[in-house]
Amino acid sequence: MGLVKSTSNLFSLLFGKRKETYSRLFDSYRDFDEISKTVNLISKNNLNSKKIILDQKSTLGNEILGLKIGNLESQNKFLVTGLIHGNEFISGEICLRIAENFSKNYQNENFQVHFIPVLNPDSFVKNTEKLKNKKIFGRNQRTNPNGVDLNRNFPPERPESKYRTYKSKMSLEYSGEFPLSENEAKAISDYVLKENFKAVVNLHSFSNVLLYPSFYSQEKSKFRAIAESLKFGKENYTPIQGADFWRETALKRFVLKTLRGTTKICGTFDDWLLENQIPSILLEISAPKNIYDHIWEFLFCDVAIFNPEPKALEFHLENLYPPILQFFSSFKK
Ligand SMILES: [Zn+2]
Repeated sequence: MGLVKSTSNLFSLLFGKRKETYSRLFDSYRDFDEISKTVNLISKNNLNSKKIILDQKSTLGNEILGLKIGNLESQNKFLVTGLIHGNEFISGEICLRIAENFSKNYQNENFQVHFIPVLNPDSFVKNTEKLKNKKIFGRNQRTNPNGVDLNRNFPPERPESKYRTYKSKMSLEYSGEFPLSENEAKAISDYVLKENFKAVVNLHSFSNVLLYPSFYSQEKSKFRAIAESLKFGKENYTPIQGADFWRETALKRFVLKTLRGTTKICGTFDDWLLENQIPSILLEISAPKNIYDHIWEFLFCDVAIFNPEPKALEFHLENLYPPILQFFSSFKK
């Protein structure tokens, strides 16, 4: 009996929490349609903003859309992106909230910010539908529909790009057949080159770190100083040099070397940006404080761990808004 009882307690702990988290998720997180509606609404109601639609659609034909807000004549152009990984819901929601905040608080300064909250719409749509249909088992999709990790699909190819973690279609970090093979990566890289951005911020979750490029760059000292000077609103993120992300501990290094063949991260958007002399940082929005309530999600790389408590969204907005604007203003001409 004791065993049955404790097993059922364990089940309610794991699945009960899980169901509760998912049923609350869409009270605060907008799905793709709601994000599109918000984009339309801001661009309609705000003279200083305009809707963006990238030239190329996603693999399944969804639009990759967003907003530009600010002085639309200014050559000081900046970019914030979210949801290049389809399971990192908070990165899209926070990107949109920053856009909403910026549209209300912008005061004729000499710059404009472009916001693209969903770089991987196909997987985001698939994941939201799955959760709305209460299918709480199984992974949510990080890659695009071709199984490609879009944040490993950018040039240049590095010697480490040949390792199995990037070449295996089974891997969550599969880099695709060749750099920019995927519509989504091509769409955003074309857009960046067309707009000539002065700096870019990429939002991810959930590690509570600020990554600045890059393992492969000689320019590390310049970015390090800027990364370390950023003032967060509530809680500091640890600045780490991009491809060193996984190198913090000997254990992690050992595990990664065994599983992936390499500890180096290749083919990221940030690495490509730096190759094109465009400064960028990657913010990994932090996990919920009560991480042990989410141990199931953690074990299965599932949605809640990538998507902190809905009530924490306001916290993350207040935390990230100041350092993002500070980062951009250090590249304003
Ligand atoms: Zn990510």
